[in-house]
Amino acid sequence: MKIAVCVSHVPDTATKVKIGSDGKSIDPAGVSYIINPYDEFAVEEALKTKELTGCEVVIISLGSDSSKESIRKALAMGADQGILLKKDGFYDSFSTACALAKEIKEQKCDLVFFGKQSVDYDNSITGQLTSEILGFNCVSVVVSFKIENNKITAEREIEGGREVVETELPAVITAQKGLNEPRYASLKGIMAAKKKVIEEKPAKEVNNLTEVIKLVLPASKQPGKIIGTDSSAVPELVRLLREEAKVI
Ligand SMILES: Cc1cc2nc3c(=O)[nH]c(=O)nc-3n(C[C@H](O)[C@H](O)[C@H](O)COP(=O)(O)OP(=O)(O)OC[C@H]3O[C@@H](n4cnc5c(N)ncnc54)[C@H](O)[C@@H]3O)c2cc1C
Repeated sequence: MKIAVCVSHVPDTATKVKIGSDGKSIDPAGVSYIINPYDEFAVEEALKTKELTGCEVVIISLGSDSSKESIRKALAMGADQGILLKKDGFYDSFSTACALAKEIKEQKCDLVFFGKQSVDYDNSITGQLTSEILGFNCVSVVVSFKIENNKITAEREIEGGREVVETELPAVITAQKGLNEPRYASLKGIMAAKKKVIEEKPAKEVNNLTEVIKLVLPASKQPGKIIGTDSSAVPELVRLLREEAKVI
């Protein structure tokens, strides 16, 4: 068995994003990037499986040179190999899945972990698309994972409870928060990761099915109103809630 983990390199959620001059993409100036938080759960689960089975873990990311930072973080946590699929231009989720699927096939991986969602574009679809392209089984939004004799038992969080699912390899699993507690990279791991070579390859050409027409920032919030500071303000507050805000 060989495991792949697909990681995306995303703007830190604390970053205040600005729209670029083309109106369709993010202005990268001043944006700090991190490994997609859900992908850390994916990396951790792959490493736990490696510890049980002795298999190899390869990290694959589609992106530009800066994505190497996220690949290196996963290598420092304990992954064996890193691959950067270098892209030029816009890849929608389908093109991303096509490029990842091609590499997963070349690497002969039969178990693939994704995050359930990337926190920048939030499509929550790349893992499922990749499994379809590869013809793999897929279990999404997983909070518990076990593998024995190529048989997978996974638990998914659903409204009011958990769903327990069984499937077999080859399979794609998309990781939800709660699946595990991602480990911190040790100093030894960080030093070892610095020496590991990240293989770079051109990504499979785009086959986009969607086009971004424009990005729009949310409307700015109305400033707050202070009606008063003691109980005498209550009648006016009630009137405004009823007549202006129309919430009561
Ligand atoms: C409004 C909008 C603007 C966009 N602008 C750009 C742009 O300017 N430039 C551009 O190139 N793309 C752009 N994209 C495309 C976007 O980068 C891809 O769709 C992205 O790679 C996948 O994000 P997602 O939300 O579809 O991922 P999801 O489906 O939410 O991600 C699920 C999981 O898939 C895996 N994954 C996702 N992306 C990658 C990746 N790149 N490499 C490895 N694993 C991955 C991760 O495990 C992740 O947790 C835009 C998309 C939208 C909707």
